[in-house]
Amino acid sequence: MPRTEVRRAGSVASTAMAGRLGRWGHVIGVAALVAGAPLLAACSDADGDRGGAPTVPSTAPIGTPPPTPTTAPEASVPPASVTAGAPGSPTDTTTSVAALPPNPAPGAVVVIDPGHNGANGAHPSDINRLVDAGGFQKACNTTGTAEGSLTESSFNLDLARLVRSRLEQAGVQVLLTRDDDSGWGPCIDERGQVAAQAGADALVSLHADGADPGAHGFHVIHPTAIAGYTDTTAAASATLAADLRDALVDGDHAPATYAGSDGLVARGDLGTINRAETPAAMVEVGNMHNPGDLDMMTSLDERAQLADALAAGVLRFLAGEEPG
Ligand code: ZN
Repeated sequence: MPRTEVRRAGSVASTAMAGRLGRWGHVIGVAALVAGAPLLAACSDADGDRGGAPTVPSTAPIGTPPPTPTTAPEASVPPASVTAGAPGSPTDTTTSVAALPPNPAPGAVVVIDPGHNGANGAHPSDINRLVDAGGFQKACNTTGTAEGSLTESSFNLDLARLVRSRLEQAGVQVLLTRDDDSGWGPCIDERGQVAAQAGADALVSLHADGADPGAHGFHVIHPTAIAGYTDTTAAASATLAADLRDALVDGDHAPATYAGSDGLVARGDLGTINRAETPAAMVEVGNMHNPGDLDMMTSLDERAQLADALAAGVLRFLAGEEPG
């Protein structure tokens, strides 16, 4: 039902695209748009940010956190602290381990969104620009969090590349909303709109949280129903989130001790998932300020296993698997 409605809507979008450039031609066009300078030069990064005060002073660290029951804000990032070869830097994506099932939905398109961007902190006026985040205004983006030499933006990108390689091995067409960590943007609305314009079957936004050091575990956020934005996709987004949750639990990842219930959280303040016009979920894979979670994110082996679980969760959703 809700899933059916969403798939029908996706089909309509795909048909419309086919009438213009053809599905793949359009997808390629979108990918080129995302990678190209003109649009991105005007906008910036992703969210994971809190819905509260949408702007920050230009002199202050940019970075508002995903709302958690605690008040711990997502810390600001000193971008210069990352060096080549640091734990958050792009890694070899050939370390795929999972024996993933074949693509259950031939022709499926999935957008993976690595939250934030490495140079967001250097572009405060651009990042603070207000955008439509789903019927309300919110800052274009934030810097994300960091711990030690690992920045969230670099971690998110590396994880996204690992997930992409796994999904591509399974035959899924994957678009990233950004594929480097040296720029700023896209804005949160544009990240969601990449999925909408591609007629994607799902969008998964990847983040790492910056909560109290004692808090740990992952949570998957799905959008609440917002008329005109997510009302036709909210139910399917909840299914996507639960499929991701189930796959993470099967991969021995523990649900968050500090947010949501059984690893799931419904939120209405996240522009990326509010603007996707397709089933969308945001994964906070762990808390970078927690030593155990940070170890998991820093270890390349564990990062690869995390990517295995996320890819498996996407494939569960594409297969129409009901969450456990
Ligand atoms: Zn984030």
